[in-house]
Amino acid sequence: MSTITLGIIGGGQLGSMLAIAAKKLGVNTIVFCDDVDAPAQNFCDKFVCSDYTDKDNIIEFVNQVDLVTYEFENIPYETLSEINKLKIVLPKPSVNRLIQHRLAEKDFVNKLNIRTTRYVSIKEKSEIEALDDFLPGILKTVTLGYDGKGQYPINSIDELNKLDVDFSKGYILEKLVKLKKEISIIITRFDNSKYEIYEPIENTHQDQILKYSKIPADISEKIFKQSKDWAIMISEELKYIGTLCVEFFIDRNENLYVNEIAPRVHNSGHLTINAYNISQFENHIRAVCGLEQVHLKKISNATMLNLIGDQIIPYRERKKFENNEFFFDYLKKEIKKKRKMGHLTTLV
Ligand code: ADP
Ligand code: MG
Repeated sequence: MSTITLGIIGGGQLGSMLAIAAKKLGVNTIVFCDDVDAPAQNFCDKFVCSDYTDKDNIIEFVNQVDLVTYEFENIPYETLSEINKLKIVLPKPSVNRLIQHRLAEKDFVNKLNIRTTRYVSIKEKSEIEALDDFLPGILKTVTLGYDGKGQYPINSIDELNKLDVDFSKGYILEKLVKLKKEISIIITRFDNSKYEIYEPIENTHQDQILKYSKIPADISEKIFKQSKDWAIMISEELKYIGTLCVEFFIDRNENLYVNEIAPRVHNSGHLTINAYNISQFENHIRAVCGLEQVHLKKISNATMLNLIGDQIIPYRERKKFENNEFFFDYLKKEIKKKRKMGHLTTLV
């Protein structure tokens, strides 16, 4: 069989790890990203730096690849559907369009009889004043948010009045869940009822950004099973191909909620690189490229610490790591506050 060339849209750390996994499987990669400093250019076979809406550059890119995938969800739908006229795009652009819109995403999950937080669409500030039943809550932009960006926690109407929110964008107001824990499930679907699923990962956030993940998650058997069942239902309903992550909340009464779906590999799954025989990245490449499905085997329990902003510095300076420690530096040129710079996985 001739070598497959996979196009990857997005060149952050997830793109790097996809390119590394592809190389291991003998798949060539071309990364397309609008950031001239994109870390994934260090790991792919070819790098194209361009705006995501530049038609000529997109067509030139598409002509060089056999199929296209992506490492982040905020890609314009028009871009993905234009590409899909020429080459296969996986996951399907329609799946990405659904999930990148918080309201459409939550409506979809509720239709499957799966619990989400209570939510309401907000177009104008005055609407919130009549909805104090949803407070304390979090106001979120319906599109383009990530790592807590575009989110405003609000306890009262007074607090809302003090905030400078641009209501020309669409918002969703979510009732705040009294969290006991957060977990995520990563699943790679190959075909109808053919998937590989990782065990639930327990996640701790700081300022709405993932800080720490671990397996095993300290959860009941019921939550363990329900979270896996729901992730399977979601991926089957979407007829999804590739790796998908479902983020969950568990409240103080042991109720499970779907928080959001990521139609891609996920930060909480970094530990799968070292803790399993096949990582979430390798599984994604296997699924989208139609390669062999290999059954998952866990090698070890693990923890993962995200290194955000200048937290990376002492790790860069450290000369020696223990045999069970794996340090990843994303090779980002500039250290910025709240920017994910690297992570440390420890097998335990
Ligand atoms: P992002 O797209 O930025 O990941 P999320 O909706 O996942 O946005 O929110 C980020 C984090 O903020 C969550 O993981 C959780 O810790 C907190 N959070 C968001 N919405 C709620 C909510 N309704 N109740 C409680 N915590 C929330
Ligand atoms: Mg999230």
